[in-house]
Amino acid sequence: MRGRLQSFFVGNGATWVHRALVVALALLGALFSIGPAVASDDASAAPLIAYNALLVGDDARARLVVDFDRKPEFSYHYLKDPARLVITLPATAFGFSGDAVEARGLISDIRYGATGPGQSRIVLSAREPIQMTLAEVRDEGSAGFRLVIDLAIADSAVFEKLLAGQQETPAAAFARQDATAADEDDSFVVAIDAGHGGIDTGAIGEDTRTLEKDITLDFARAFAGKLQAVPGYDSYLTRDADIYLSLSKRVELARQHGADLFISLHADSLSQTDISGATVYTLSDRASDRLAAALAKRENLSNEIMGIEASVEPEEVTDILLDLTRRETQSFSISLADQVVASFEGRISLINNPHRYAGFMVLRAPDIPSILLEIGFLSNPEDEKRMLDPVWRDRLVDRLVDAVTRYRSPMISGMP
Ligand code: ZN
Repeated sequence: MRGRLQSFFVGNGATWVHRALVVALALLGALFSIGPAVASDDASAAPLIAYNALLVGDDARARLVVDFDRKPEFSYHYLKDPARLVITLPATAFGFSGDAVEARGLISDIRYGATGPGQSRIVLSAREPIQMTLAEVRDEGSAGFRLVIDLAIADSAVFEKLLAGQQETPAAAFARQDATAADEDDSFVVAIDAGHGGIDTGAIGEDTRTLEKDITLDFARAFAGKLQAVPGYDSYLTRDADIYLSLSKRVELARQHGADLFISLHADSLSQTDISGATVYTLSDRASDRLAAALAKRENLSNEIMGIEASVEPEEVTDILLDLTRRETQSFSISLADQVVASFEGRISLINNPHRYAGFMVLRAPDIPSILLEIGFLSNPEDEKRMLDPVWRDRLVDRLVDAVTRYRSPMISGMP
C-alpha cells in the first residue's frame, strides 16, 4: 500500500494546467449530461470527474462530500496503523481544490488519485479507530451526483471487528454498523454526561475546594444507578472515571450507545455568590440572558483546554431533513427541561427562571433531545453544602428519574 500511495497526488499539488484541464473536462461532462442520452459507451470509458469536494468535522466525526459528473460506483475497506478508510472508485479526474479537503479534527490526512488502470482511490487517515456511519450517493439532478461519507470514532474492539470481517465491501451493501449501539432491546437509553473531567476540573468550591468534575461524576453515577433500576430504562455514562473528553466526543459516544436522551450535569461557579439553585438549559443560538450566555461561553472553553480547535460542524453540509430533525429534537429537549423543572418544584431549590437557554456545544446533537443541568453553584456556600450531602443528592436524582419517566409517559400512552 505504501508504494502505491507514492503515486497519489495530494490536492495542493495540482497545477493550474491540471485544474484548467479538469474544468474543461467538467464542462464537457456537463454538456453530455444535459443533452439527450448520448453515446453512453464513450461516456463510461471516460474518467469520472470529481469536480467539487468538502471535508468537515471535529475530533469525533467527519463528513466527506464529493460531487461527481456521473454516478460513482464505489467500494470501501479499512486499513490499520493508522486507521484508514479506503474508497475505491473507477478512474476519476480529481478537479477540486486541495484546500476544500484539508485534513482536520479526526482526519489526519487525506489522499486521492489513480491507483491503477481504471481505478482511483480516496484514502482518509484517522487519529483514532473509526467506523463509517454513512455512505450514500445522492442524485442532485443537473448538479450530478454527490457522494457522502460519514466517519465517527469507534471503540478499538469495534474497529478490529470491522477490519477482521471485511472483504472489499461494495457500497450497496453498506448498512449503518452500529456495532456498539445498545439498541437491540427497546430500553429507553439515557446518556448521562458528567461535566468536565481529567485536566478540565471545572469550577472549584469556595469553602471545601470541591471540584466540579467530582461532583458531576458522583451525581452521574447515582443517577445512572437509579435509572437502571427502573424497568424499561437503561443508562450510559459518557465517562465513568476522571478522564478528559471533548464536547463532541461526549455527544458522539452517546449517539453510538443508542441514547434517546442526553443529560449533561454541571455545578459551575458565578461571580455573584448569592445566586443559588438548580438551572436547566436547552440549546439556543441566542442566550436567554447574560448569565446563560456567560455560562455557555465558559463551558465551551472545555475544548480549548486541550487545544481542540473550534470545529466546523458536519451539519454545515446540511439538508432539509436534518433541519426538520433538529427542530423536532429541540421541542423534545424543551419538553424534557419542563419536566425537570416540574419535578424539582417545591423539592429541590431552583434559581428564578429555572429554564434558560444558550449556545452550549455539548447540546448540539441534532437527533438526541438534550439538556444541561446546573445542579447548583459551587460559588454559593449553601449549594456547595447541599451538593456534598448524599441524602440531598439522592433526592435530586430521584426527581431526575421522575422527570425522565414523566417525559416518556405521554409518548408511551400515545402509542397505538
Ligand atoms: Zn461545568
